[in-house]
Amino acid sequence: MKIDITKKLAQLKNDGRKVLGCFPLYPPLELFYAMDLVPVVLWGLRGTATDTTESDRHLQNYTCSVARHLTEFALSNGSGLLDGLFMYNACDTLRNLPEIIEKEWEKIGQALPLIKVHIPMVLPAQTDATAYFKNEINHLIKDLEERFDVLFSKDKFVQAVKQIKYVRDLMARAENRVTDGHLSFLNFVDAIHECWFSTVEEQIRILESLIDELSDEPAFSADKDSRHGVILSGILPPPTSVIHAIESSGLRIVGNDIASLGRSYASMPETREDPAAYFLDFYYQHFPCPTLLYTGDRRTTSLLGLVDKTGAKGVIFVGEKFCEYEYFEFPHLVQQLKDKGIQTLEIEIAIEDDAQTSAHDSRVSAFSEILKNNF
Ligand code: SF4
Repeated sequence: MKIDITKKLAQLKNDGRKVLGCFPLYPPLELFYAMDLVPVVLWGLRGTATDTTESDRHLQNYTCSVARHLTEFALSNGSGLLDGLFMYNACDTLRNLPEIIEKEWEKIGQALPLIKVHIPMVLPAQTDATAYFKNEINHLIKDLEERFDVLFSKDKFVQAVKQIKYVRDLMARAENRVTDGHLSFLNFVDAIHECWFSTVEEQIRILESLIDELSDEPAFSADKDSRHGVILSGILPPPTSVIHAIESSGLRIVGNDIASLGRSYASMPETREDPAAYFLDFYYQHFPCPTLLYTGDRRTTSLLGLVDKTGAKGVIFVGEKFCEYEYFEFPHLVQQLKDKGIQTLEIEIAIEDDAQTSAHDSRVSAFSEILKNNF
């Protein structure tokens, strides 16, 4: 990844912005922007520290790299770069992380606000949690008003909703340029990664210039290209060397079901003035992701739908080691895809896989050969 996250956050602070570190991946961004905060989603933090010494004092080494990098970042330099921490409930790994970070920050005299929201992980068709959820959002607004000395404004909220909708649309358009051969998947991933650590205005500038600066001539013609299309699925995109291996092995990335990419920008709820109603739609109609447990029933349909839409011949599951949420679903998804004649490959990315990915590269080459021989 090319971006220097520490530098980006320091710049936001120098510009006088209040920066709210958020996890997991789908925080209520629009609300934070409407309340003059800059939310930054704390993913893709690999590389912000040389090791995970601080994190390892608190987390077992069988937790995923996402949580370990996040904790290392928060404990090594996060307190000086953030004005607060927001989280909603997701997996068991993340559940008590805010308290660990909060206590460590207290020890060094940094008492930053810790803001939490509980999203009921119940199936809406079985249990109506609307009232509880709306209360959580209204409580969040009050909490933000008090802690950051701001007032909620419906006009600013609607403006933020429209801006984020535009950003998500630009991200989807950039993804289409990957599919049609104008943009490499790696450049696409780098641009989206930079967006997560930028203001909404900057995100629009990054994405508009990414799209505008592309040549009219594609690197290949999507119609005539004989390389087989594959979809990537997982929590994070694979490491750079694995992306290179995929793109140079005779495979073409035609879609993604990556939590930090496609699953994040796919949901575009209707614009509303009432944040509670807006986020009820946002969370309960969200593109399926194992971290939102109630979307589980729609997960297979959405992945198979993506395969149909893109014409992909294979799906590469990029497993985040120790992420049981993703792993629990792989056997079922693999079987469903195989029943439809779609080939699958599962690779596992561990925290130490930064540089040592040659085994994955070989498996990607072998997978490419299988696709060539089958289609
Ligand atoms: S990768 Fe999986 S286990 Fe790790 S924080 Fe995300 S959902 Fe939790």
